[in-house]
This record gives sequence, C-alpha cells and structure tokens, in this order.
Amino acid sequence: MKIIFATHNEGKVKEMRALLSDLKIDVFSAVEAGIVEEVEEDGVTLEENAFKKAKFVAVKAGEWAIADDSGLFIEALNGAPGIHSARWVGEIQKYDDLMTYTLDKLRNVPDGERKAYFQTALALCASDGRSWIFCGRDDGEIANGPRGGNIRPQLPYDQIFIPKGYIQTFAEMTDEQKNKLSHRGRAFEQFKKFVKEKGLGFFKN
Ligand code: IMP
Repeated sequence: MKIIFATHNEGKVKEMRALLSDLKIDVFSAVEAGIVEEVEEDGVTLEENAFKKAKFVAVKAGEWAIADDSGLFIEALNGAPGIHSARWVGEIQKYDDLMTYTLDKLRNVPDGERKAYFQTALALCASDGRSWIFCGRDDGEIANGPRGGNIRPQLPYDQIFIPKGYIQTFAEMTDEQKNKLSHRGRAFEQFKKFVKEKGLGFFKN
C-alpha cells in the first residue's frame, strides 16, 4: 500500500511515520509526492478540513492519501482555539508564538480550571473520492508555563499540554510515550484497525 500524508507539517509527518511503522505501507509526504500547494483550511469542523486536505492530494496524485486536522479546545476559553489552533494568533513569526499567546490568554486562570482537550480528525481518501474518517481525543490541562523545550518545533502546544493522569507535558515525554496516548495516536489506532480489517489488497488503486 502506498499512501501520501497530505501535510506540510514535518512534525506531523514524523509522528505519522512512527505510528504506521508496523504496517507494510510506503509513506510519502505531500512534498515527496511533488505536491507543494496547500489547501485553505476554511471548513467549520476538523473533519471537514481533514477531508479537504486528503481529497485534494488523493485526486491530484491519483493515490491514497490521509490528512489530519487537530485542535486544542480549552474549557476556560469556551473551546478556543479549537479548529483555529494554527491561526488564532494571526501571522506568526514562529510556531512557539501560538503557545505563548495561549499561555497569555490563560494567565489569570487558576490551577484546576485549566482543563483542555486535543482532538484529531484523520481523513482517508481514495483517488476516486471514497473517504473515511477516524477520530482521537486526549483530555488534560494546560500547564502554567512551557515545559520540556521546543523538542517538536512544529507541534508547539506539546510544551503546555499535560494529558490527564500524568504530570509531564507532551514535550517532556518521548515520542513513544506521547504516541501511545495522544489524540493523533488514538486516531491512528482506529485507522490501523480499519486497514487490518480490510487487508492491504483493498487499497490497490
Ligand atoms: P493543524 O491545523 O491540524 O495543522 O494543527 C493546528 C495547530 O495545532 C498547528 O499549529 C499545529 O502545529 C498544532 N498541533 C497539532 N497537533 C499538535 C500536537 O500533537 N501537539 C502540539 N501542537 C499540535
């Protein structure tokens, strides 16, 4: 099976590759597949944006494609930034601006009221337009300051998100630890279950 990750976020590509390493799938990033254009993420749900990205690449490349759209939903901010997690700061100089802006928004919110969850919608599309969606959610809270360093530079919220039941932020965890419990890891578990049920032959174009 050949599949293209419809993303230009290298941090996501790295995680996706690790999450699929136990399947016999040849994985290409959009750039490796020669697709440099990015689609506008103007859907009103994560699912809509994920479908839009995956469908664009699947049709253009004539191959199977997957795309994830993720968001951080913060209770004290009425669910913001949610679907706008990549863009709610406006033009950013660096990915970390998203994280510092979020901390600033929460500066007067005490411990115990900093609940949040991460959600991922993972869309799978065939070049003929057939499509499926897989979702993953991870509950937790927002730390008072960044911890763990900028170890996944294109996934800035890792430094401030503490999954429920843990004391470390995602950035203080290894890739293996994060992938086991993260929103993206959970969505990929669903996807892998689907691939195993169908068998790799199903994915021949
Ligand atoms: P996207 O729209 O799915 O690309 O992601 C929304 C924003 O959240 C982007 O700025 C991503 O860098 C960030 N993001 C997505 N997934 C994660 C994650 O697992 N950890 C931290 N930040 C993430």
